[in-house]
Amino acid sequence: MGKEKKGILKAYLEFNVLYKILIGLVVGAIVGIILAASGVTSLPPWISMFGTIFTRLLKMIIIPMVLASLVVGASSVSPANVGKIGLRVVIIYLVTSAFGVIIGLLMANIFQPHAELAAVEALAAGAAGKTGSTDVWSVITNIIPTSVLSALVNETVLQVIFFALVFGLCLSFMKVSKDERIAKAAQVSYQVFDCLAEVMMMVVRGIMQYAPFGVAVLIAEVFAKNGAKVAGSLLIVTIACFLGYIIHIVLVYGGLLKIGGIKIGAFFKEARTPFITAFVTRSSNGTLPTTMTAAENLGVEKEVYAFSLPLGATINMDGTAIYQGVCAFFLVMSCYGRGLTMGEMGMIVLLATLASIGTAGVPGAGAIMLAMVMQGIGMPIAEGTVLAGAYAMILGIDAILDMGRTALNVTGDLTCTACIAKKMGMLRKDSVLLK
Ligand code: ASP
Repeated sequence: MGKEKKGILKAYLEFNVLYKILIGLVVGAIVGIILAASGVTSLPPWISMFGTIFTRLLKMIIIPMVLASLVVGASSVSPANVGKIGLRVVIIYLVTSAFGVIIGLLMANIFQPHAELAAVEALAAGAAGKTGSTDVWSVITNIIPTSVLSALVNETVLQVIFFALVFGLCLSFMKVSKDERIAKAAQVSYQVFDCLAEVMMMVVRGIMQYAPFGVAVLIAEVFAKNGAKVAGSLLIVTIACFLGYIIHIVLVYGGLLKIGGIKIGAFFKEARTPFITAFVTRSSNGTLPTTMTAAENLGVEKEVYAFSLPLGATINMDGTAIYQGVCAFFLVMSCYGRGLTMGEMGMIVLLATLASIGTAGVPGAGAIMLAMVMQGIGMPIAEGTVLAGAYAMILGIDAILDMGRTALNVTGDLTCTACIAKKMGMLRKDSVLLK
């Protein structure tokens, strides 16, 4: 019996991780759909606990992993190169996000998603308002932490990136100091962070062995809770968003990888794990450990991915951009019976691209950005208005839309990272992307 148990465990551990996760995904989706069809909208706490364990395990290692990898990355690269990588990464992120909004607006104009005014009005009375600040300047100053500890404790990824870059760059100068004491201390510090980064990678591999269970439960939960709501007018919103996500992957990412001379098959083979993790956790930040592991497996140098991926999790949200385009159209069409003007669409492209910079990659962040964008085009979601009613409708299916947009957001981070690494000659010689 004991031997048999060991055999099962061994077979489980040796079975391809990705296939295990895919099985978890399919099983979870089927169970979720069956539950929704039978009117069960939630799982008992003792089952939903398995999903929570998965997301908590991932969250547990985000900050140590980002900090350690970035310190190691920044201390191995010249300051001039950091600037070059940084500029390219930010530009490619912003450009792809702008493409995302345009694709979203295109989908919206084709599908014309909207709800009946009566349905929106019925929800308006009790609907809470949601307005957001569009102060871009504070987004920039907030990148500098006033307390390193609070940045780490509050998991403010942009601030952690800033501190780790400063720390890593100083370390890179100290490592070559003529003063032996300083050089030695820097070398020891480097080794400590290097070791921490490696330990975190090892922890991720362990978590991935547990992932199939977490994935199954998380997906069953979302489908059971939201599945039935994706009907009627909201079905068109869902179709428009998901079609936009698919078109973006094929045209924008496929195009970028092709132009970059990267093996597309090898790329997507490795990108599947973060893709699924993002799909079920609905958090680019939470997916960071798997995205970084995928970049490592793809043969990208740490100097690039340790910087570009945490940054991307915060500022690069192409899926969210598509969602903004579709949902802004839905809100205006449902409440005012008209589409968006060219001026409004131009404003949405600009605002949605900028709004993504200051919004963390956590579940539901896109819905907050949508409120910011609506405010920016002069239609604030004020309490008790029809806009708040239509917004409440979107919130009802937000989890489903968030799954797709987060998966796209993370794939975008990895695509841009691979392309920049290839362009700058920062793919390892044994990289699967080159074979
Ligand atoms: N959940 C998304 C992310 O983490 C953000 C969003 O809500 O659109 O990337």
